[in-house]
Amino acid sequence: MSEATPITELNVSDISKPEVVKNLAAEIDLSKAIIVDAHLLKTYRACEMKFWWFEEQHVIAKGKAAAPGFGIAMHSGIEWFRRSKMDGRPYNDALKIGAGHLIHSYQESMPSEMQQEVMQDDKRSLNNALRIYQGYCEHYEPFGLRFHYIEIPFALYLGQIRIASLSSGIEESKDVVYVGIIDGVLEMRDRLYVNDLKTTSWVVSEQWLEGFRMDQGLCGYTIAARELLGVDTQYALVHGIWVQKEPKTKGAKPLSDYFKTKEIYWSDSQLAQWHRNTLRTAYRIEISRQRNDWQEDWGQNCGAFGGCSYRPLCAATPEFRSRLIDLDYERAVWTPLEDERLQKMSMEAQNL
Ligand code: SF4
Repeated sequence: MSEATPITELNVSDISKPEVVKNLAAEIDLSKAIIVDAHLLKTYRACEMKFWWFEEQHVIAKGKAAAPGFGIAMHSGIEWFRRSKMDGRPYNDALKIGAGHLIHSYQESMPSEMQQEVMQDDKRSLNNALRIYQGYCEHYEPFGLRFHYIEIPFALYLGQIRIASLSSGIEESKDVVYVGIIDGVLEMRDRLYVNDLKTTSWVVSEQWLEGFRMDQGLCGYTIAARELLGVDTQYALVHGIWVQKEPKTKGAKPLSDYFKTKEIYWSDSQLAQWHRNTLRTAYRIEISRQRNDWQEDWGQNCGAFGGCSYRPLCAATPEFRSRLIDLDYERAVWTPLEDERLQKMSMEAQNL
């Protein structure tokens, strides 16, 4: 690893590029490193207290959420459709293989109440998932997309932060590793893109798509594809997928309108900005940990998107919170590095 200057202050500008560390587990002590992914970073930036509940207390609301479960199933179907196409299978065979994986993933990921007969009309029913999946495959078939990589888990070394211990005052360096999964790297009209699938029940408008210019995950995946896979691109391609139930009336949006494409370009300086900003958040997370001091939002994030799932806990009197956790929450530990696909990636990285 290079002797890059560790980040010590929030306004530091002297940061080297992210690095490919070929055998990450052997070169750095992962148990002492700060492992971050897009989800953890977004959570911390939205509300430190939310991060504390999730990452430090390992508390999550009971029951599987329907929206992420549906997104996982859709990703799985499209992943296997793409893999089959890459293997040279005809379109109809690839469609069937993808559908089989979608059904299997749906049964594993969705809350059980979504799988009962009575829910079959819902926008997140299995039938509707298959309808949208097929519409997606049909929509993008004429684009002639050529896939170079599909579903690549990665662990990218971002550098070090340096923090003085509160108790001893002695400065300590900490490695920062960024992990995630790249949905795909594809070629379209002679240009390479890092591709990301985004399912949403919001209307897929231009304004919604514009938001991805500042997407923590997408920019990070682009950097990871460049550094780890050697993909020479600064472009990302969002495939927005609208999750809407089948309309019963004439004049409703046709299925082909459920899918929108957004091309995003990042300059070298913007990619460097992402890197610096990510290290700064890692630094702040570490400071919060050391001080065990977590800012509560008391604002927009408490009420956004139907309300933060921790709002009942934050709103309860501190004495009542542990009782509430026993009743309505469960314990789960977010271990992105233990994901078996990430383990596989660290094996692949040794061969780069
Ligand atoms: S309810 Fe508000 S303060 Fe509490 S974790 Fe959620 S966003 Fe943060």
